[in-house]
Amino acid sequence: MKLLVATHNSHKLDEILAILARPGLVLVSMRDIPDLPEVEEDGATFDANARKKAVTLARATGLWALGDDSGLEVAALGGEPGVYSARYAGEPVNYSANNTKLLTRLSGQTDRRARFRCVLALADPAGNCRTVEGRCEGRIAEAPRGANGFGYDPLFIPDGYRGTFAELAPEVKNRISHRAVALREAERAWGKELAIAD
Ligand code: IMP
Repeated sequence: MKLLVATHNSHKLDEILAILARPGLVLVSMRDIPDLPEVEEDGATFDANARKKAVTLARATGLWALGDDSGLEVAALGGEPGVYSARYAGEPVNYSANNTKLLTRLSGQTDRRARFRCVLALADPAGNCRTVEGRCEGRIAEAPRGANGFGYDPLFIPDGYRGTFAELAPEVKNRISHRAVALREAERAWGKELAIAD
């Protein structure tokens, strides 16, 4: 079974490869296939964007494709940055500027509750698609801490931990993160398809 992982984000790709690796499943990245179409992430939900990535790339390549759309929802900001997580501080994507903007918006705010969400979409070459979702609840730190990971990791403290995702070992993040939860659900729900599709 050959599965195209439909993301340009090398951090997401590394996490997906680390968690999903299993015998018989060949994971192909977008770097391995030239001239793939660009997918504009203009959906209003994580689900819509994940589906769009997976379906577009499955149709274009004739492979099964796995799309990931994810982001951070902060309670005191009414769910912001949500689907705009990547470009919260504008184009081009700048993780440090995003973190600074988030801390500024939360300045003086005592409710620091937040969650990461990850929707994974699996599409077959005909464009049939289904999704699963994973969540990770936590809170936003007062200042960035740690050097691992990417994006909002230096600001996100998962429930039950003192350190941010960026301070935790990658193996720990890969066990508890929104992406890990979604990937475990994907294996449970789609194990059969992933094994038989070719
Ligand atoms: P996407 O490519 O539209 O799914 O963008 C996801 C954005 O959400 C990333 O650019 C990050 O800012 C944020 N994000 C998603 N997952 C994570 C994570 O595991 N850690 C930190 N930030 C994340």
